[in-house]
Amino acid sequence: LADGLKCIGCGATIQTTEPNEIGYTPMSALIKGFDQEEVLCQRCFRLRHYNEIQPVSLTDDDFRRLLNQISETKALVVYVMDVFDFSGSMIPGLHRFVGSNPILLVGNKVDVLPHSIRRSKVKDWMRQQANIAGLRPIDIMLTSGKNGDEVSTLLDKIEQYRNGQSVYVVGVTNVGKSTLINQIIKDVTGDQQDVITTSRFPGTTLDRIEIPLDDSSDIIDTPGIIHADQMAHFLSAKDLKYVSPQKELKPRTYQLNSEQTLFFGAMARFDYVQGPKTGITAYFENNLQIHRTKLEKATAFYEKHAGTLLTPPNDKDMAKMPPLRRHEFKTTMKTDIVVDGLGWVTVPANVVVAAWAPEGVSVLTRKAMI
Ligand code: GDP
Repeated sequence: LADGLKCIGCGATIQTTEPNEIGYTPMSALIKGFDQEEVLCQRCFRLRHYNEIQPVSLTDDDFRRLLNQISETKALVVYVMDVFDFSGSMIPGLHRFVGSNPILLVGNKVDVLPHSIRRSKVKDWMRQQANIAGLRPIDIMLTSGKNGDEVSTLLDKIEQYRNGQSVYVVGVTNVGKSTLINQIIKDVTGDQQDVITTSRFPGTTLDRIEIPLDDSSDIIDTPGIIHADQMAHFLSAKDLKYVSPQKELKPRTYQLNSEQTLFFGAMARFDYVQGPKTGITAYFENNLQIHRTKLEKATAFYEKHAGTLLTPPNDKDMAKMPPLRRHEFKTTMKTDIVVDGLGWVTVPANVVVAAWAPEGVSVLTRKAMI
């Protein structure tokens, strides 16, 4: 039925199977639209009728084309990242695409960080990571699109830094960009309807969302890019929801002897390799099951129980998960060992530990935040 049909809003080829890809239309809507000889993809439908945008992802090539346009325009770039999935929300090569345009770095989903973490520490860490990636942000903000925290401050900063120019909002999928943009829309437009306009990104099939700021400039929402190494990529939609923290993380502390292991579902593993008996604190989604076992038995235990006793993922979805890869660290200070997109453990100085994460998912260390 969908064969060859194009969305009359954005021109994307209509499809009914991949809800997060461009051109998605539920079958029921397609049938209705077909009768009226007018088919809109779900994204354009929501936008037209509810002034609400939905996340959509894009291939690398289309995304590069979009980003290239940014380098040719004078604009402020608002780069939205997930504070919980920092490497996973990096856009490779972004510094080349933004050219000389200023970047305002936004660490989103800050609502999940425990209150005991000082916000200034998080920003310092973000600045460090951004510098490593070749970015020199003009400012760094922490927001929660979900709670609306700091969204009005974000708008003030945008106004301050954009210098009368337009604003491009960029980010990979799942960082909460759509939720944040929807908050911005509420803030900018109040209750007014129909102030958002769409136009086509030249050279792509995709529409861009423009929220007018004044007579000559807009906030332009760009589609998210899929980052192949995001934890999100290896999990089913249901599991992703389950492991993504919805509320403030509650620290869980384990008294571990050396040669003990913790499993985080079947998605990650932490070995306490060497050191005195000590408290190890884990920061993961509050409902995620953490399983303790002996190091010497851990590999066999994983092989036997991944997908059954150790979940998520379940047995069926384990096939999508790459094998776990081991990363060993010797600490010299109190350190956070971060499995990007999943959580972290805080370990003391002068111990040897190993963290295991699916091949491709980053494991990084930072000076402990608490
Ligand atoms: P996008 O792909 O970047 O547009 O991301 P979405 O806005 O669709 O959000 C991705 C996921 O993150 C959804 O499960 C949201 O519920 C969740 N999310 C979005 N914003 C926030 C936030 O500020 N805090 C928290 N805790 N979760 C969020």
